[in-house]
Amino acid sequence: MLESFIFETHLDIMPFDVYVVEIDTYKIVYMNRHLKESQGDSTGLCCYKAFFELDQPCLFCKIKELVTKDGKPNGKTFIFEHFNELHDRWYQLQEKAICWPDGRVAKYSIAVDISELKETQNRLAEAHATLTLKSKELEILSATDRLTKVYNRLRLDEFLKTEFQRSRRYGNPLSVIMLDIDYFKRVNDTHGHQAGDQVLCEMAGLLGSCIRRTDLLGRWGGEEFMVICAETALPDARRMAEKIRCAIETHPFPVVQSMTASLGVAELKHDDTMESIIKRADVALYEAKQKGRNRVEPAVHPD
Ligand code: GH3
Ligand code: MG
Ligand code: MG
Repeated sequence: MLESFIFETHLDIMPFDVYVVEIDTYKIVYMNRHLKESQGDSTGLCCYKAFFELDQPCLFCKIKELVTKDGKPNGKTFIFEHFNELHDRWYQLQEKAICWPDGRVAKYSIAVDISELKETQNRLAEAHATLTLKSKELEILSATDRLTKVYNRLRLDEFLKTEFQRSRRYGNPLSVIMLDIDYFKRVNDTHGHQAGDQVLCEMAGLLGSCIRRTDLLGRWGGEEFMVICAETALPDARRMAEKIRCAIETHPFPVVQSMTASLGVAELKHDDTMESIIKRADVALYEAKQKGRNRVEPAVHPD
């Protein structure tokens, strides 16, 4: 008697729900005070009726897995989370079969309301997803030229560095095409800065349509663009540059109708640094300008 009194007193001061269900009949044989206060006294009712307003055992019910074939407690404890749609709350449940003092085999359940924890977890997961999205957007933004929407110089530098290292490690060829629009200043002077911007955007789109998936196109600055051709030796890079030159020459641009560009092409050599390959492409571009513009010039190298 005293033991049962202490047991019940103990369970009644618990700040979470405790209940006991007879395994054979699903009838509730005990509810602690915490549960009675929130739910009313349902002792004697079937648990699925009392807790879920169902007419048969819940689909997730593991009650039969807590006993041996001959109906004795098998010592297993199940711990799981469950959302009670009726209460609109999340519970963490701990369940185990026990022998009730009157000899009946029963399921002893502890249900802790973890709704607030779940809410916090969900908010945290949402915040994390938003943050990941934002940081991805920021990453794209920080690598994109605001006017033309192609990559900016920062990304060009990064990509060149990666490809430079890869080329050094595996011996793959690497080439760089530097492009400068011919007489671009005239566009601004004749049609205004806005028309100039429009031409730059059109040019970026056109260049994007000429390159391969493994190339990287970026705006180097002003009216200069760069194409980094990974795993490409000089002959192929020159062909690519010629294709670009030709595409520009024949493209109907808005406002100005036609434009041309000059291009310098350099392939990475054994003694090149990242700076020197750009420099050699730039010198080749200057050479193309000197030779009359609207042309492709390869960079020279001593060997
Ligand atoms: P060249 O054939 O020798 O390259 O002649 P160019 O007129 O193209 O060269 P120059 O360097 O004299 O002029 C480049 C012009 O590009 C000058 C500058 O005002 C213009 N420019 C640079 N950035 C922008 C931009 O973002 N928008 C517009 N509209 N113009 C720009
Ligand atoms: Mg220029
Ligand atoms: Mg120019």
